[in-house]
Amino acid sequence: MAVRNRLYPAAAQVDILSRHCEDARLVWNLAVEQQSWWWPGRGHAPGSAERQRQLAQARAAEPWLREGSSAVQQQALRDFDRAMAAFFRPDNPAGKPKYRSKRGPQGFVVRDTKVRRVTRRWGEVRVPKCGWVRFRWTRALPADLGMARVTVDRAGRWHVSFPAPQPALARRAGGGPVGIDRGVRTALVTSGGQHYRAPRISGRRAARYLALQRRLQRQAQGSRRRDKTRRAMAQITAAVTDRRRDWAEKISTRLVKEHDLIVVEKLNTPAMVRKPAAKPNREHPGGFLPNGARSKAGLNRAILSSCWGLFARRVDQKAAASGAAVIYVDPRFTSQQCHVCGHTAPANRDSQAVFRCQQCGHSDHADVNAAMNILARGLALMAVPAPAPGHGAHARISRQPPPAPREPAWSAA
Ligand SMILES: [Zn+2]
Repeated sequence: MAVRNRLYPAAAQVDILSRHCEDARLVWNLAVEQQSWWWPGRGHAPGSAERQRQLAQARAAEPWLREGSSAVQQQALRDFDRAMAAFFRPDNPAGKPKYRSKRGPQGFVVRDTKVRRVTRRWGEVRVPKCGWVRFRWTRALPADLGMARVTVDRAGRWHVSFPAPQPALARRAGGGPVGIDRGVRTALVTSGGQHYRAPRISGRRAARYLALQRRLQRQAQGSRRRDKTRRAMAQITAAVTDRRRDWAEKISTRLVKEHDLIVVEKLNTPAMVRKPAAKPNREHPGGFLPNGARSKAGLNRAILSSCWGLFARRVDQKAAASGAAVIYVDPRFTSQQCHVCGHTAPANRDSQAVFRCQQCGHSDHADVNAAMNILARGLALMAVPAPAPGHGAHARISRQPPPAPREPAWSAA
């Protein structure tokens, strides 16, 4: 959890901040590469102190590296240490630290952050070699300023974020449990019958995005025009990203405030982001045709799944801070199972939207029926500490945050 404010560097400062990003990425990637040479039985991989020593040596030998900020470069190594520690965590291991691409979002970390207020709306944060950089003071900063992370997305927007504990939400007393299904069309459907639609990309925007994508494919690698196209694409995704973030914040807050227990399906990250299959080009073997309508459906599907991931993560964080419980259950067959009699068959699913039980005749909105099954599986777990029989056998109560969902390839963070 972090408090994030938009940063507005002066033109001259942008170059310095960009250089810091480049340095942080370079140092991080060197650490990743070094780590990749290590495997069990090969003795010790260099530890944190050893890496810092190597960085100092590299700075002494390389004037280019020496020109950059040592504070930023050292912090990138500490960042890497933290990521490795998270990777080795026994109870809830994170993914292995990966190479950071020049194309992805960029950033670096400042330690011992100093901040000053300029006006009610504006503040300044001190960045090594750069001095004071202005930011919009839209969200209250945490009392304890340790680190700050400066980032730039692919649309060229700068932000500064300060790690902060998630504040507890004022919760309504006696709010009952709720099950949440991840719908196919809508993003979320609750066992109480509420539907929450996720933000979508408009037809006009999707068409423009896909046209840019086709243009990009024709443009030469590394050309200036290609960069320009990429930036235009990033500006479209930035708008969608903002709406998606707002949506996840709003809905997660509402659900945590109103329910003591929230049952959601276990995240299956790899299956969440699935690109539409590419269409092979018969005339040019090995090439692929753009697949129009399916591409647009793919965009919306990517937004939908990333909305869900963001939502699940925020629900977990907010519930943990506010004293609500979250249970993760196995979602298999929840859409085919009758909530009333338990009969499970694909034929129960009359259509995408309608559930009609072939055995008892129970009929309901398909996603609501699924959400009620999810809730029932969660409640069964609460009552029986031993593994529940049937499909719920793989369910577990978790206080661990779900793994951070992968951003779909096309969206800027
Ligand atoms: Zn039935």
